[in-house]
Amino acid sequence: MLRTAALNTRLASRSSLPAWQFVRAYSSAKEYDTVVIGGGPGGYVAAIKAAQLGQKTACIEKRETLGGTCLNVGCIPSKALLNNSHLYHEAKHSFAKRGIDVGEVKLNLDQLMADKNKAVTGLTKGIDMLFKKNKVEWIKGSGCLKSANDIEVALSAGGVESVKAKNIIIATGSEPMPFPGFEIDEKQIITSTGALALEKVPEKMIVIGGGVIGLELGSVWSRLGSEVTVVEYLPSIGAGMDAELAKAFQRSLSKQGIKFKTSTKVIDSEKKDGKVLVNVESAKGGKKESLEADVVLLSVGRRPYTEGLGLENVGITPDAKGRIELADAQFRTSVPNIRVIGDVTVGPMLAHKAEEEGIAAVEHITNGYGHVNYNVIPSVIYTHPEVAWVGKNEQQLKAEGVKFKIGSFPFQANSRAKTIDDAEGLVKIITDAESDRILGAHIIGPNAGEMIAEACLAMEYGGSAEDVARTCHAHPTMAEAFKEACMAAYAKPIHF
Ligand SMILES: Cc1cc2nc3c(=O)[nH]c(=O)nc-3n(C[C@H](O)[C@H](O)[C@H](O)COP(=O)(O)OP(=O)(O)OC[C@H]3O[C@@H](n4cnc5c(N)ncnc54)[C@H](O)[C@@H]3O)c2cc1C
Repeated sequence: MLRTAALNTRLASRSSLPAWQFVRAYSSAKEYDTVVIGGGPGGYVAAIKAAQLGQKTACIEKRETLGGTCLNVGCIPSKALLNNSHLYHEAKHSFAKRGIDVGEVKLNLDQLMADKNKAVTGLTKGIDMLFKKNKVEWIKGSGCLKSANDIEVALSAGGVESVKAKNIIIATGSEPMPFPGFEIDEKQIITSTGALALEKVPEKMIVIGGGVIGLELGSVWSRLGSEVTVVEYLPSIGAGMDAELAKAFQRSLSKQGIKFKTSTKVIDSEKKDGKVLVNVESAKGGKKESLEADVVLLSVGRRPYTEGLGLENVGITPDAKGRIELADAQFRTSVPNIRVIGDVTVGPMLAHKAEEEGIAAVEHITNGYGHVNYNVIPSVIYTHPEVAWVGKNEQQLKAEGVKFKIGSFPFQANSRAKTIDDAEGLVKIITDAESDRILGAHIIGPNAGEMIAEACLAMEYGGSAEDVARTCHAHPTMAEAFKEACMAAYAKPIHF
């Protein structure tokens, strides 16, 4: 039986029970084999998999649409804007030299945003359809753990619903990290969410943080005409990237007009005459300066999201970074039937990592075995050129004392890249010096994000550079650069 939250609270106030216990005591809880809290790429994939494996499954999601950060305010809208801003930039700066005269190229920002929204709506509705197809019940509301098997849902439509589950999977994701000294208003001081919905192109934009999200969204607004400055505390951008690629990447983005202030510490901000002043100093201390911008994008990382989840009711204590820790490799928390996946737990905050964990966690529940290979989780930056990498980089292997070989191949020597006049960048393969096994692949260049899948597959199968080099690749393709880099690692490339 369902009642409104207000009625429940009123009735509960007349009983000796707290409101949530009252609801549980007087409403019959729905029962499920598996309930997933959070409908992002981790949660919705877990829910679909659980249903496919015969579990009576529900997914609790409080947003109006499914798909979590990724589909609503992350991967999907950012890639839509990256694609169309790239086309705009190409039309303005490259079409004429390719022999295509299009007259005056004008930006219609409203339409650009509408096109992005169309992609988001289509894909989020698609998850809804997949839920229906697989018989996953979407409980629309905010889930709060009450015991190891009980969840109370504050329904979006009003009222409270009690849910019982044999297994619970927490997939509540993450949120943008705030920055002291900056008050987010999503208009002038914005997170990635605001950067996906600006109503006009800012004249000057400061991006705080030279990581993946900052560089992608900085690229979008730079291509659309903004003067973008990226401020980064570390000496180089693209945290986690192979140093050689990071250098090449920064050079390439600088050529496109993005300014960089690396080794620079952000102190605080102030608003003055419609502008934002960002006070910075050298990371080593000393020289201070004030940078002016119309819009400041804070992209200093994301933090796990567990607000209102009721972890305290079940005795789960997040770690110092707010992450729910894993008690074992089967994604169990300290409460054995409650598992955790995705951004809210340890590991890289990536949609595909969350998805892999979602499937594996469910398989552990149903089959007793699941698999995620954390050595083979690719990273991609969808700028132009794209940057993609997987496995270990040169600096990591040196630090670990591993003997390795490197095979590199530039896109300048790749016929497809030359054909389409998009030949910036290189493929760099790192192999074990003795076995030739691929330990890492690092690509900067056209289509890097698609090409990295070949490296992942080779690494997943324990492949060597020679294995890839002896695999026939279609001609002319960018993938031939990958093959030639592998040839370079164990013998010599042909075309360079
Ligand atoms: C701008 C941007 C670009 C990105 N681009 C990429 C990319 O290109 N590739 C990539 O791999 N990753 C990218 N990411 C990261 C990616 O979005 C996340 O890693 C991914 O969404 C994590 O999935 P998740 O399922 O763990 O959590 P989320 O996607 O954050 O989903 C969690 C969901 O849980 C819901 N929720 C939370 N608490 C409750 C509760 N108590 N009750 C009910 N519902 C609740 C939230 O409303 C949310 O919808 C990007 C992120 C951003 C911000």
